[in-house]
Amino acid sequence: MLSWCIGQRRVAQIQRSFHKMKVTILCLLLTLIMIRSMLGAGEYGTPKQDFDLLHSSLASAGSHHTHNRRILEEVKDADDKKSNTNSNSYESFDISKILVDDEPAEKIDPNKPYSLGPKISDWDEQRREWLEKNKEFPNFVQPNKPRVLLVTGSSPKPCENPVGDHYLLKSIKNKIDYCRIHGIEIFYNLALLDAEMAGFWAKLPLIRKLLLSHPEIEFLWWMDSDAMFTDMVFELPWERYKDYNMVMHGWNEMIYDEKNWIGLNTGSFLLRNNQWSLDMLDTWAPMGPKGKVRDEAGKILTRELKGRPVFEADDQSAMVYILATQREKWGNKVYLENHYYLHGYWGILVDSYEEMIEKYRPGFGDHRWPLVTHFVGCKPCGKFGDYPVERCLKQMDRAYNFGDNQVLQMYGFSHKSLASRKVVKIRNETSNPLEVKDELGLLHPTFKALKV
Ligand code: UDP
Ligand code: MN
Repeated sequence: MLSWCIGQRRVAQIQRSFHKMKVTILCLLLTLIMIRSMLGAGEYGTPKQDFDLLHSSLASAGSHHTHNRRILEEVKDADDKKSNTNSNSYESFDISKILVDDEPAEKIDPNKPYSLGPKISDWDEQRREWLEKNKEFPNFVQPNKPRVLLVTGSSPKPCENPVGDHYLLKSIKNKIDYCRIHGIEIFYNLALLDAEMAGFWAKLPLIRKLLLSHPEIEFLWWMDSDAMFTDMVFELPWERYKDYNMVMHGWNEMIYDEKNWIGLNTGSFLLRNNQWSLDMLDTWAPMGPKGKVRDEAGKILTRELKGRPVFEADDQSAMVYILATQREKWGNKVYLENHYYLHGYWGILVDSYEEMIEKYRPGFGDHRWPLVTHFVGCKPCGKFGDYPVERCLKQMDRAYNFGDNQVLQMYGFSHKSLASRKVVKIRNETSNPLEVKDELGLLHPTFKALKV
């Protein structure tokens, strides 16, 4: 009837098309059989299951099949819309679903004396022997350049506000840059090694473990996660510390005369890898255990130290207390540094960055161009800080960009302003990239690290 209506030529055309279709269907069938035998026929069931399996195997088989995957995703999206959820959405995912071990910590016995680990009293000999046997890992890479490990870290839990994790990322990127430029190794800790030593005390068990596991390290440099390098050029005056075991930012009078709780800062300090330091850690730790011990110790520290608010014992106050009460035992090996900012309190630095840029250049490390800007009290990862959040985050961005400009400059870029994530080109590329003037002397960090 149809062929009768549209004429003989069309009939022949339709017949040809029909023949082509038969060949296509045959090919498709053959392909199907081949794929089926490749995947193992046992896994196939009803025609619908066969189709679903085939569909999903094709969809997951890689870039050739993105089309199939897209169709699957579209179907899924439609399903999600119907049930009003989207399991592919990071934006709406509730992270608490996968935080499995958030149960309360085990009870701590307040009567059991706390210890960081088995007593070690011959570390100097043990380490000396190890260094003798392992000459390929010298503890000094140059006569005045000790091997240094920079250690930092943060809580294993995500921050209270995800933006806190973004600042942790900026902060570790900033430290990686400084360490790369200065030939320093870096360790980031994200584990609570000892449940009793949570919070600001977590650094103690970690530091002990790293000193003992890395005898090749001469100095361990602890740096808080809320401290950033703002002078990428400044190299520590290692020679000055050759007779000392611990270096902290601080002032003798404030510690030994005033017993002031902010006479030193433990957010950025150096510790030599020797027996003295292990003994110091053992002396430092007993006020740390969480709960009754830490609370009671907090009362003593508030009573004994100048200006200390009422709160549980913290590692910084404990250090002030030890030095102030046992100066003869520890004082001669502790260097309180204030010629440059080994730690720099952010409140007195961040508003002067523009003035510093105008008048000075990186490399001084002091008030002219601070080595470290430490956001004491900001707590960007926690629930509450001691300062307005807006000021903290805004100034952390400025400090980060201030430091990052010195890194970007090597590559011909700079932040548009200290407030801006955006960068601008400050140099045009040339066909002789190796002839670019290295203004800060940072371009070939390995050479610089060896020169010191
Ligand atoms: N910290 C850690 N694990 C934790 C909590 C804190 O390693 O679970 C470290 C982190 O590097 C942090 C430092 O301890 O910077 C000290 O705490 P914070 O900086 O909040 O104290 P502040 O400098 O404000 O007194
Ligand atoms: Mn800090």
